[in-house]
Amino acid sequence: MSRAIAIDGPAASGKSSVAKVLCQKLNLVMVNSGSMYRAVAWKLLQLGIDLDDTDSIIAALPNLNLQCGVDESGYFSTVGYDGVILTDELRTEQVNNSVSRVASIPEIRDILLVKQRDYLKSSDVVMEGRDIGTVIFPDTPYKFFFQASEKIRQARREAEGISDSVAARDKLDSSRKTAPLKPAEDAINIDTGLYDLNGVVECVLSHLQSLGWE
Ligand code: C5P
Repeated sequence: MSRAIAIDGPAASGKSSVAKVLCQKLNLVMVNSGSMYRAVAWKLLQLGIDLDDTDSIIAALPNLNLQCGVDESGYFSTVGYDGVILTDELRTEQVNNSVSRVASIPEIRDILLVKQRDYLKSSDVVMEGRDIGTVIFPDTPYKFFFQASEKIRQARREAEGISDSVAARDKLDSSRKTAPLKPAEDAINIDTGLYDLNGVVECVLSHLQSLGWE
């Protein structure tokens, strides 16, 4: 049976950076579930669909055919359409400003839930997102919830040169009805503002060891 490490937390709390290191140290696939929501938002924008028009969005879903895979290194999940993998397109200001609205639609979450769980059929994973410990893999014992002050998180995005209003996204993500951003009851909470990247990785690894991960 494959195992899942779940890392949830608000925008820019350090989930991706830590998961990228962990997947190579532990030899598993890192799945960035946010990229899936971003890819759906990107496609809907490409199609010119009004993101306030939920009926039109739902009508478009059967034709979207989001393809989820793993890159050549074997470590990182990919998303794309028609054999073309999307990367930088997913991190534009327009996608940043739209993705939380798209992610609040239960019909979209249902489709992506299946794709996220599918990864576990072929390997161990570290999956990061907002509802991984609460909804996608509620039974995994390896759950983490990252936090950091809003000031630190906004500064991280600005240092990356990305225009991203993290507070607005977090508000939408935490207040939606379906699968809101919140820690699982049994998640280990880590304030990533207290450590550097290596420090957070070490902290996660030591918790995993205590939980019996070998
Ligand atoms: O992780 P990232 O910031 O790229 O996620 C982009 C957006 O996708 C989040 O702000 C959230 O609206 C949505 N998301 C989600 N559930 C997940 C992962 C991401 O709703 N598991």
